[in-house]
Amino acid sequence: VKNVNTIEVKWWIKKFQEKISSEKSYLTDLDQAIGDGDHGHNMARGTAEAVKVLEAKTFTCPGNVLKAVAMTFISKIGGASGPLYGSAFLKISQTLGIEETIKDALFISALREGEKALRQRGKAVLGEKTMIDVWSPVVAELEKANSLNHEKMRATAESCMKATEILEAKKGRAAYLGKRSVGHIDAGAYSSYLLFLSLAETLAK
Ligand code: ADP
Ligand code: MG
Ligand code: MG
Repeated sequence: VKNVNTIEVKWWIKKFQEKISSEKSYLTDLDQAIGDGDHGHNMARGTAEAVKVLEAKTFTCPGNVLKAVAMTFISKIGGASGPLYGSAFLKISQTLGIEETIKDALFISALREGEKALRQRGKAVLGEKTMIDVWSPVVAELEKANSLNHEKMRATAESCMKATEILEAKKGRAAYLGKRSVGHIDAGAYSSYLLFLSLAETLAK
């Protein structure tokens, strides 16, 4: 059992920003193939703004850190993914509340609430080639393990991100391509993989 505190959630977001930044052009390529090519730019801008906000203020609990992140994602990422990531993070922050030290069970239920908010907002279900295809199985795996197992988190996020390649898109811009969307990894699934990879690396410390 590993507790998560304010410093760790800040590391999580900082790592996420670094990974998005170094893979910005790959995210652009993925979204260019079956969308409009702005996902790298959208995510790089949103995460850079979030890190700026986290560096400028002091936070007393993980929930407040992630609330600031949610607000920044909503206003700065843009596109379809801004409101999606924003509502997930808002719900995560609300579930964490003002607790200063987050135990595994609370963190896992917060991730589940975030995943539900994502599904409600985008109306996507599993298998429609969206970020849901990473979020849902990762959360389910953590619930099954009943712990924030960083190795399972990383492995599930990676394999589920790769598995979007053979799917046909049913939601988002890529859905307009129908069967021609098959053969490419979904951009939002890839950025979600980076999100959980960042969390796994933070927890592994
Ligand atoms: P836009 O499509 O508006 O240009 P982005 O390129 O930033 O927005 O984000 C695209 C990603 O958003 C997709 O790769 C997909 O993962 C995700 N996405 C799009 N629509 C939905 C939806 N309805 N539910 C869940 N995720 C979605
Ligand atoms: Mg796009
Ligand atoms: Mg766009």
